[in-house]
Order: sequence, then structure tokens, then C-alpha cells
Amino acid sequence: MSHFGSRPESPLRVAIIGAGPAGFYTTDHLLKEKNLFVEVDMFDRLPTPFGLVRAGVAPDHQKIKKVTRVFDRIAQNPHVRYFGNVELGKHISVEDLHHYYHQIVYTVGTASARKLGIPGEALMHSHSATEFVGWLNGHPDYRHFQFDLSREHVTIIGMGNVALDVARMLTKTADELRKTDIANYALDALSHSRVREVRVLARRGPAQAACTIPELRELGELDATDIITLPQEMILDDASREMVDVDGQTRRKFNMLQSYSYEPNGSGKQRRIIFRFLVSPVEIIDDGSGGVGAMHLQKNSLTMRADGSLRPEPTDEFETIPSGLVFRSIGYRGVPINGLPFNQRYGILQNTVGRLETSDGKPRPGEYTAGWIKRGPSGIVGTNKPDALETVKRMMEDLRAGIHLSPVNPGIESATALVLARQPNYFTYPDWKKLDALETERGQAQGRPRVKFTSIEEMVAVVKG
Ligand code: NAP
Repeated sequence: MSHFGSRPESPLRVAIIGAGPAGFYTTDHLLKEKNLFVEVDMFDRLPTPFGLVRAGVAPDHQKIKKVTRVFDRIAQNPHVRYFGNVELGKHISVEDLHHYYHQIVYTVGTASARKLGIPGEALMHSHSATEFVGWLNGHPDYRHFQFDLSREHVTIIGMGNVALDVARMLTKTADELRKTDIANYALDALSHSRVREVRVLARRGPAQAACTIPELRELGELDATDIITLPQEMILDDASREMVDVDGQTRRKFNMLQSYSYEPNGSGKQRRIIFRFLVSPVEIIDDGSGGVGAMHLQKNSLTMRADGSLRPEPTDEFETIPSGLVFRSIGYRGVPINGLPFNQRYGILQNTVGRLETSDGKPRPGEYTAGWIKRGPSGIVGTNKPDALETVKRMMEDLRAGIHLSPVNPGIESATALVLARQPNYFTYPDWKKLDALETERGQAQGRPRVKFTSIEEMVAVVKG
């Protein structure tokens, strides 16, 4: 049994790397531990906290973004400090953390987009949904990206909720977008968009679509966009029919997709989103000048695997669809962190239920992970709460067994001094609150939830200036 954490004068010192939902929920669970005296330092590479809630959740999903009120309460606990604008690998290293903390939790999320590996993927106007969503949300890394919205035909590969976010944001009117906290430059670009037709491609059938019912329903409420499914692609094979018959959720999703069935004359709205099923892109075709011109698809049928899952099997039927702009939305991958074991296959940190381990399965005492970089990119914001609890339970088990790092400088002041020496422009939580108030104020002036600052230099200038 370690004495750290059992007395207020020798608190357990924990570093949380990444102030997104997983980081906040981990902090919250630690604070709620009975008989534990803990001091938590949260680090984030951006000055602004909240990870994907600020930079990934679509700007028109303000209700989901309200979870920041919960995070706000956690951050203002006197036993929590926030160090924003401090990047692991740039300002501080894993080795540094070992010198200052008893336990470290990596909650850095999965920052990169998975690739398809098909010809033409690197053409101009072929992007990842990650880039587009970051751009919409004013993430400093993506603010300079350019998307050619003069193109009428857009294809989104994948049919998860991110694909639906992209389709919805591409087809909302300027009036609909103005009610959101979309970055100003994106509002301007989308207000002049000529996008007319967005195809969302699923490699499997309507009974297997990865998106969820509320997000599908929301599409039906768009001011200027018809939603379309093709009757011939809504015909189910026997196994899919059984899925629809036995599972209420799948049935409701299927029925909703079917309610969007094709009307030859449409309802005359200015834009359309067309759901396509059982198709896989095999090539993105050059328009002759190095840009996306069309997409070549191969049709699939479904076959049942030994584990009972239905997987796509290519047929010998092909089709070419018009396409001037492509977004692949087929999931995320973590980015390896210098000095930490990485599971290349799944794109996550090598771990067992949150305990970090070496690539050959040996434990790395005192180091943990939570959120998408622990389990992969799945679930909603709230999924990270039980996930973080699972990790905190392991942390407490280890602490009780005397397993933790042995920092030479466990004092709060010494960690603050390190950060100050490495990154004088670090953001405290009050710094963030100042920026938050400025953004909200700018938003109020325009009748919007907030108008974001999108450049780190500007954030530092207005807060520290
Ligand atoms: P996702 O839900 O895992 O969807 C990925 C999609 O990509 C699926 O349609 C998948 O098809 C397809 N795909 C994967 N590999 C492919 C390939 N090689 N070729 C063609 N298609 C491929 O991932 P996501 O949309 O990125 O979302 C990540 C998580 O965030 C999800 O849990 C999602 O629900 C959540 N999220 C929630 C919200 C919300 O609550 N409003 C918003 C955004 C995201 P298969 O199904 O055939 O594998």
C-alpha cells in the first residue's frame, strides 16, 4: 500500500494528457474516489479544453456541446489545474512526466483519419471527414484547409454519424448554419457553396448502416435538402430481413431510411442527399487536371461470417458516379506518441483495460489510458464516462498494491515551474474562461452561440496580450 494519496500533505499526483471528454471523466472519477487525496494536472496541446466536444461534435449540435458545463465544474475543483497550449512531445516529454507524477493517464484521442488505400485517394479535392469537421469547428490545425465548394457532386464514403454530420453541414442553408458556432470562414465559404448532390456510400446494406436514428431523423428536417434512398437498394437479403425483424432499433432505422425513398420528381428542394448501399469505391478518377472527377464503385453482396456478422463481398458489377469532391469518413486512428507503446493494428496505445503495457505485454507501472486512444473510435461522448471509470479502478488497484511511478519532483509548484519554463504562454483555466467569455460575447453580437477564435497566436494575444 502506497502512502501517496492517503494524506493531504502527500497527495497522489496525476497528470492527464488531453482535456477532452475522457480526460475530464477520468479527473472526475479520481476526485470522487473516497479516502483519496489527489491533485490532478490536465494538459492539452490546444489553449482551449474539451477536445472533440469543441472541435469534433458538429457545430449545429449545440445540445451535445452543453456537456462542457459538466467539464467546467470538474475543472474548477481546487484540486485540478489546467495547462493548455502545452504539447506532449514538444514542450514536455513522457520522461518529464515520470519525474513529476505518480500516475499518468493518456487521453489524447485518435487524431488521424483511416485511409481507404484505393487509387486516386490522394487527388486534389479528396479529403478526410476529419479535416472537414476540424475546419468547420475552427480547430487551429485545420483552419487553413480549403474545400472546393464550387463542385456540385460530393461523395462521402462511410455511413457512420460523422458521415451524416458532413452531409448535413454541406447541405444546410446559410440561415440554418448561422444559428451554429461554425467558424466564420466556414460559414462564409458554405454560404457560397454550389454543392447540389451529396452521395453517402455504405459498403453494406440498410440494415447494417452505422449511423443512429436521431441523426437520420435530423436529416429529414433540413430546410432545403431532400433525402433519398433507392428502392432497389432497400430490398433485404434473408439474413438482413431477420435482423430487421428481431431488433427494434434496426427496424426503426430501416423504416426511417425507407421513408426517404426515391420520388422521381423529388419534392423540389434545392439539394439532395442520396444514400447508397452495398457499394465500395474502387477508384477515384482524375478529372484530367489532378482533381477528383468521378468515382468508380463496385457493387457488393452480403455474406455471413462464422461469427454471424454480415460482411460485404464484391460482385462483378461496377458503376461510375459523378463526383467533384470526396470525403472519406471510415473511422479514425490514434497517432503514435514518442516513447509509448502503440498498437499499429488498431491505431491505439497498447493497453489492457486501461493499463499501458509494452508491445510484448509487460506492464508499464503508473501509466494508463482512457477514451478513444484506449479502445478505438467508438461510442458517444458519454461512453467515455464508464470507460474512464474502468481505468480509474485499475489505477486505484495499483496504488493500493504500491505500484506507481516514483517522481523526484512530486510538488505542484515544481510542475508549474516546468511548464512555465517550457511554454510561458500556457493557458490556465481562468485564461480559457476569459477566451470563452470573449467568444460568447462576439457570438451574442451576431445572434450566434459563439464566434470562435481559431488561431493559437490570436488566442494568446487576446488573453495574455
Ligand atoms: P463509424 O460509426 O465506425 O462508421 C464508419 C463507417 O465507415 C461505417 O459505415 C463503416 O462501414 C465504414 N467503413 C469502414 N471502413 C470502410 C472501408 N474500408 N470502405 C468503406 N466503408 C468503410 O465511425 P464514425 O462515423 O467516424 O464515428 C465514430 C464514432 O463517433 C461512432 O461511435 C459515432 O456514433 C460517434 N459519433 C456520434 C455522433 C452523434 O452522436 N451525433 C456524431 C459523430 C460521431 P461498416 O459498418 O460496413 O464497417
